[in-house]
Amino acid sequence: MNDCIFCKIIDGSIPSKKAYEDDRILAFHDVNPQAPVHVLVVPKEHICCADAVNEDNADVVAHIFTKIPEIAKSLGLVNGYRIVNNCGDDACQTVKHMHFHILGGKQLNGEMA
Ligand code: AMP
Repeated sequence: MNDCIFCKIIDGSIPSKKAYEDDRILAFHDVNPQAPVHVLVVPKEHICCADAVNEDNADVVAHIFTKIPEIAKSLGLVNGYRIVNNCGDDACQTVKHMHFHILGGKQLNGEMA
């Protein structure tokens, strides 16, 4: 996707502070952190949002969720963390490349919305 900022981070044309990378996913620190630790995990394949997950691409979501505990541990999140996915306009998804926020490093607010 030519105009996708996260695709540009994945291809290296926009710099990022990487937290984890393999052949299918990339994790990088959010440029505007909302917690002491705020990392985004994205599939390298462009999937616009959780609404576009289907039988053909769901394996990368499973892969992300198997790697999140490892990424969280590497970030020092030993006392818990929150995983957030915003899907669509009502959820204020600003970047239309599916991503999972990992937030932690402090006692988080109990409110979800
Ligand atoms: P969302 O609102 O769920 O779509 O989240 C998009 C996130 O991407 C926000 O938390 C932004 O701060 C973050 N973001 C946008 N551009 C960049 C960038 N170049 N590097 C790192 N994070 C970014």
